[in-house]
Parts: sequence; C-alpha cells; structure tokens
Amino acid sequence: MTEQLIEVAHLKKNFGKHEVLKDINLTVDKGEVLTIIGASGSGKSTLLRNINLLERPTSGDIRFHGKSILQPHFDIPKYRAEVGMVFQQFNLFSNLNVLDNCVVGQTTVLKRDKAEAEEIAKKQLAKVGMGPYIQAKPAQLSGGQQQRVAIARAVCMDPEALLFDEPTSALDPEMVDEVLDTMKQLAKTGLTMIVVTHEMAFAHDVSDQVVFMKDGVLAEKGTPDQIFNHPQEAATQHFLKRYT
Ligand code: ADP
Ligand code: MG
Repeated sequence: MTEQLIEVAHLKKNFGKHEVLKDINLTVDKGEVLTIIGASGSGKSTLLRNINLLERPTSGDIRFHGKSILQPHFDIPKYRAEVGMVFQQFNLFSNLNVLDNCVVGQTTVLKRDKAEAEEIAKKQLAKVGMGPYIQAKPAQLSGGQQQRVAIARAVCMDPEALLFDEPTSALDPEMVDEVLDTMKQLAKTGLTMIVVTHEMAFAHDVSDQVVFMKDGVLAEKGTPDQIFNHPQEAATQHFLKRYT
C-alpha cells in the first residue's frame, strides 16, 4: 500500500507583488524519490523552502502524514528533523567539528544523550566515507566532503524525508559523483526524497517522479521516461535540449 507522506495543495507564494509559486499541487508517497527540474528563477528553491517552513505559503496547504504543517503551535524543530534539508552551500556550523555538527541536532531536538548521539553520528559519517574526518572543521574539507557531512547530519535525525536543493551545484565537477552516489545509496534505503537538481542522468536513474517547473508552475509531471524521453510540453522539450 502506498502512503501519501507529503502533499502540497494549491500552494501560492508571493514576494510582494511577485507571484513566485502559482497553485502548486503535488503528492509524494512514502519511499518515493521526486525530482524537480527547471530553469533558474522558476521557483524550485522557494517550493522546497515552503515545504521545510523556511518560508510560509501565501495561501494553500502543505500536509505531512495528512496533517497541515501550517496549523498553529506546530512543532517546527521536530518537523525539520522528520523532513530534513540539504542545501547547495552545505550550511554546516563552521565553528563545530564534523562530529559535533552531527551531534548537536540530536541532543537538542531529539534529546538523545551525548554518547548515543556520538555513536549514531560516527556510524552515519562512516557510511558516507567521512569516518576519518570527525575532528576536522568544515573549512578544512573539500566541498564534496562537506556535503557528505551535511547529508550524514540530516540522516542522524532519523528523517522520514529529505529535501535536497541543488546539492551538487556548488561542487567542483570531480566531486559531484561522490555526493550523487551517497544520495543513490540513501534512495535505496527507502528514504523519501525531494531533489532539486540539474543532474539529469541522476534524475533519470533514481526518480520515481520528475516535475518540470517553469515560472512558478508545475508545467509537466511524469515518470523519468515520460519527462526525459517523451516530454509533451514545448517548454520541457526546450529546457531539456540544453542537457542532451
Ligand atoms: P530557483 O530555485 O528555481 O532558481 P527561486 O525559488 O530561488 O528559484 O526563486 C524564484 C523567484 O523568486 C526568483 O525570481 C527570485 O528572485 C524570487 N525570490 C526568491 N526568494 C525571494 C525572497 N526572499 N524575496 C523576494 N524574492 C524572492
Ligand atoms: Mg534554487
């Protein structure tokens, strides 16, 4: 049985008079990987930031397990552990070493004791190949290493879903694959993922659904085969020409 984990219903977001998201509707089932593609400025980050409550919708609703995340007194820190986010610029705590980056959310939000949190952090860091670097500060690491730490940090919170906003766009080309491989491993564990990316081969191989965003609208939605091999909309065809 499929279970709807995240539902976005008639979502609109304005910045002043600028309508950045216009009536967005989508559903992500538990265990599904949804990829969002589209040109710069089309609203992809704003959509993820609304789902993570870094922005609040102008109207419409976002539901997690069928319950609105916009309700009063909603526990946002708890929700951000359940639906974590990985950013283009990693957003690690620069003053903390790798291990503490992965411990602090567990002890403050999940109330795990420090020893347990460290054990979980070490296990997740080892899984992304960062076991030897637990004492390093973020600035001592390459971009690919920092992003793998950011992913491990999110996974330490036992999330039900992770949102990725162009996680490889700030990386030197030779580091892109190590991060995409880490994400592929995560997808195989059954984690629900929403991924904004320009890595079309990754999107093709890993996604259950792909949506193409244009000017704040979901212009086309389908399976990877439908979107990449048989796009119906002229805008999708035009956008994808740049990647083939
Ligand atoms: P994408 O991630 O697809 O490149 P964004 O969601 O970042 O697109 O941006 C979509 C549009 O919303 C852009 O025109 C951008 O300038 C605008 N925008 C995003 N965030 C803000 C903000 N905080 N204030 C005003 N405008 C914003
Ligand atoms: Mg963006």
